[in-house]
Amino acid sequence: MKQQQSTPPPLPQSQPPSLSLSQAGGAAAAEGSVVANAISSLNGTNNNNNSIDATTKTRPPLYPKPKTPSFDKDRDYIGFATLPEQVHRKSVKRGFEFTLMVVGESGLGKSTLINSLFLGDLYKNRQMPNVEERIEKTTRVEKKTMDIEERGVRLRLTVVDTPGFGDAINCEDSWRVCTQYIDEQFRQYFTDESGLNRRNIQDNRVHCCLYFVPPWGHSLRQMDLDLIRRLHRKVNIVLVIGKADCLNKTEVRKLKERILQDLEDNHIQLYQFPECDSDEDDDFKQQDRELKASIPFAVVGSNTILEVAGKKVRGRQYPWGVVNVEDAEHSDFIKLRTFLISTHMQDLKDTTQDVHYENFRAQCISQISQHALRERGKLKRDSISSTNGFDAAISETDRLLLQKDEEIRRMQDMLTQMQEKLKQTHLMEMKKNDSVIDV
Ligand code: GDP
Repeated sequence: MKQQQSTPPPLPQSQPPSLSLSQAGGAAAAEGSVVANAISSLNGTNNNNNSIDATTKTRPPLYPKPKTPSFDKDRDYIGFATLPEQVHRKSVKRGFEFTLMVVGESGLGKSTLINSLFLGDLYKNRQMPNVEERIEKTTRVEKKTMDIEERGVRLRLTVVDTPGFGDAINCEDSWRVCTQYIDEQFRQYFTDESGLNRRNIQDNRVHCCLYFVPPWGHSLRQMDLDLIRRLHRKVNIVLVIGKADCLNKTEVRKLKERILQDLEDNHIQLYQFPECDSDEDDDFKQQDRELKASIPFAVVGSNTILEVAGKKVRGRQYPWGVVNVEDAEHSDFIKLRTFLISTHMQDLKDTTQDVHYENFRAQCISQISQHALRERGKLKRDSISSTNGFDAAISETDRLLLQKDEEIRRMQDMLTQMQEKLKQTHLMEMKKNDSVIDV
């Protein structure tokens, strides 16, 4: 572990974002404006001197101010140059939503990392299960929402945690809870979207899944592969090696290589970074390359602010020195935060909408049409069989009628025969009487 000797980068001085926790309860005190810093880095106003932020210093502002329309003076001016501004204002007014799922066995530093990333305290009232409870424990889903506001931009962040994941002795089904949750959110969105009131749909779809890999072990475990294989077509998976301060530089590099090899061998595709636009500036391209090269991010989390050489840093104090989580030499924390918040949050949402949700929607529509086809087929078969039944009923009645006709005919024959017999007998009687009179 590298000792903190050089002057550590100062914590950002800008205004902290305001936080309100809807489910974790109460307002959390923000310890510094890290999110503000990450976003300000995009506008080239960041003071932080670590490598990623330094490269973004020359980036132009996100939304260059458009020319104010002037009807009299500027005759060549049509006015659509304000479109980005209009979209920007509308989005800011509406606010943003982002849902992050964190998956990994307990103790890997998930809660610490989430709190460090968003400067909140989402896990205040957390209770740790004891060993007996954990043996039988099943994975469940716990959802926490935090409203963050920074420079007038509101973000509703939902963190979906999966406590109990991989804790039980038999954790074969741990993946099921995650896939079910993701599908449920897609289903809900699909139902809302097909409903009458589509204006205020709440988007609870999972936009990103941070999957925590333990630093011990040599690569991905079978359980990791099983879960990732089941999830990679439903959600943007970003792999994170937790507690990376347990590994030295070479070990981190080797573990990363083996993980990537495992993924390739198993044909698993994690979130794909979009290609950098050719008109992006060189600094941005360099930053993009660095982010891509860091996958899977090896992170260290901490919610403790330490003072090193007169500067306040977020770090972990060890007997031999301090691990500064925001130092790119010590961990990929800053890279992960830049990727997740500053540069790729919108792309994660777009990929969720355009790829994963579209897949789900296409499946739903194909299932619905297959069901409709089956129903139609059933109805057709029912109507055919009822027509056949009618024919059968008719023929049965006919048969009975014919039988009755036959019986009646037979009885008529019998009656005629009897009448004939009676007639004969009567004639004979008459003849007898005549002969007696003749005598
Ligand atoms: P979770 O169960 O995955 O949410 O893990 P926690 O965030 O509760 O962390 C479990 C323990 O690991 C706590 O004592 C943390 O202080 C510690 N921890 C968290 N992050 C790190 C890290 O990056 N490195 C080290 N060495 N310990 C960490």
